[in-house]
This record gives sequence, C-alpha cells and structure tokens, in this order.
Amino acid sequence: MIPVGFDYQRPELLDAALALLAEHGEDATVLAGGHSLLPVMKLRLAAPEVVIDIGRLAELNYIRLDGDEIAIGAATRYRDLVVSDVLAQECALLPAVARTVGDPQVRHRGTLGGALAHGDPAGDLPAAVLALDGTIVLRSPRGERRVPITEFYTGVFSSVKEPDELIVEIRLPRTGSTGWAYEKFTRRSNDWAIVAVAVATLPSGRRQLGLVNMGSTPLRASATEAALAEGKPIDEAAALAAEGTEPPQDNAGTPAYRRHLVTVLTRRALQTATA
Ligand SMILES: Cc1cc2nc3c(=O)[nH]c(=O)nc-3n(C[C@H](O)[C@H](O)[C@H](O)COP(=O)(O)OP(=O)(O)OC[C@H]3O[C@@H](n4cnc5c(N)ncnc54)[C@H](O)[C@@H]3O)c2cc1C
Repeated sequence: MIPVGFDYQRPELLDAALALLAEHGEDATVLAGGHSLLPVMKLRLAAPEVVIDIGRLAELNYIRLDGDEIAIGAATRYRDLVVSDVLAQECALLPAVARTVGDPQVRHRGTLGGALAHGDPAGDLPAAVLALDGTIVLRSPRGERRVPITEFYTGVFSSVKEPDELIVEIRLPRTGSTGWAYEKFTRRSNDWAIVAVAVATLPSGRRQLGLVNMGSTPLRASATEAALAEGKPIDEAAALAAEGTEPPQDNAGTPAYRRHLVTVLTRRALQTATA
C-alpha cells in the first residue's frame, strides 16, 4: 500500500529537528532508518502529517567512551555497532546482537535509537540494552532527561517518551569483551526471533538477562537473575526464565512452546556467558 501524503523535512542540525518536533507535536513523526516506520505508514497504521528525517544527523551518529560508560548517538546504525572497535572491546554483547538483526540492508539502515523508540517486544536491541541496564537520554526544547531502560517501556509499543522528545543518546556500562551471550532462535537465519535471550555481566559481577518476544514489552528474566544472585546453579536459575512472562501466540509458536524455549535458551546463554 501507499502511505497517506505527508510533508517531509530533513533538518541539518539537531536543534532544528527538536524545534520542528515541538512545532508539530503529535502531527509529526521522526524517521530514522525507516525500517519499522515505513511499513507501518504503508499499512496506514500511522499517518503523520509531517515526517522529520533525523537519519543523517551527524550529531546523533557516534560511539565513544565517556568515563566508565559508553555513549552511543541515537542515529548510529546497526552496521556501525557491528564494526565498532570500541564496542568489541568495551561492550561486546551489543555488536553481537546487532549482527543478528534482519539482513545487510536492514543493518545498514536501522538505528539503535529507532529500535529502542519503536520498542518492539520481538526486537533484538531492546533486550540487549535491558540486559546491560542501559540509560536512554531524551531531549526536547524543554531540556534533557535520562531514563533507565528498565523504566522506559509502559506497554505495547509505548514508552515514557513524550511526543516532543527525541532519543538522542544511549549510555551503557563498560562490560568488556567477555561474560555475555546471545541466543536467538529463528526458523531461518534472517528471521525475527521466535524467542531470544541476551546475557550481560555487569562490572559489579551481576548477571542480567533480557528476553525477546516473551511479553508485550521487552522484558528482564528477573527470577533467573535473583536465583543467580543467590548463587543457584545455572540449570536451576534457567528453569525460572519464563516466570512473570506472557509470551504471545502466533504462527511461530504457542505461549507454552515459548515458555519452554526460553528456559532452554537461557541455560545455553548462561553456560556460554560463564565459560
Ligand atoms: C525486513 C526487515 C527485517 C527486520 N528484522 C529485524 C530483526 O530480525 N530484529 C529486529 O530487532 N528488528 C528487525 N527489523 C526492524 C529494524 O530493526 C528496524 O530498523 C528498527 O525496529 C527500527 O529502527 P529504525 O532506525 O529503522 O527506526 P524507524 O523505522 O525510522 O522508526 C521507528 C519508530 O521509532 C521512532 N524513532 C526513531 N528514531 C527515534 C529517535 N531518535 N527518537 C525518538 N523516536 C524515534 C520513529 O518515529 C518510529 O515511531 C526488521 C525490519 C525489516 C524491514
């Protein structure tokens, strides 16, 4: 299908993008990689009057160390995450997860900020950032605020982000090149996950897990994390991975199948992360 007609704006500067967003409010939508927004517009599930393209804003495209954190601009593309030397050394989970998204075309267009803003519970990157206890930096003409990703999602495809706010940066702890794993279960290599599990080991030594496609929002495996913190063995902790989840029913699997799958993938991921 063809989207409803819209006005296209491509500001050269971040401040101009923020001003446009403030001016048009809920009539405007931000375009980053377009790989989630454009399908939604073509299906006419979204019909913004103004589309503000931030995908080429250099101010939002960077990966750099900042003290004991890594700062990543929101318009940084998956491909840039995959080839980043900084991330390979300082937060190897993120590029490993980005490498599994879609196909090369998707990875050359899709952005980290777009994936987090979209908040698809079947998306790979939100689970990784959750496992890493990342922080989302939001900016509007009213100022800037930092929201832990654990407080970001409020429901299906919804978050605490206000209509005039942009995600400008994602901040992650420096977790190094070991202690992580990503187990993504798909029918074909380029597919979306039926279920996936991301494991990160934080600088404190705490192991955290993000789950893909196990509920209406990206989720953490809280019961597994608590069991690990109490020193329980991997098998016992992994058996709790489905606790508190509400996996969907679709053509790829039933909720019961996903509940079983998540325990298997969690066990494998924890074994890899601790090997
Ligand atoms: C064929 C195909 C296969 C795919 N396979 C996978 C897969 O295996 N795994 C996976 O995780 N994803 C997959 N995707 C989705 C892909 O990862 C998208 O790129 C991603 O979900 C959205 O990122 P984007 O930059 O394209 O955002 P866009 O589509 O441009 O935007 C998505 C939403 O976020 C908003 N937004 C974007 N950037 C910002 C910002 N900085 N601040 C505030 N709001 C913002 C937009 O307004 C829009 O509502 C696939 C997509 C396609 C088309």
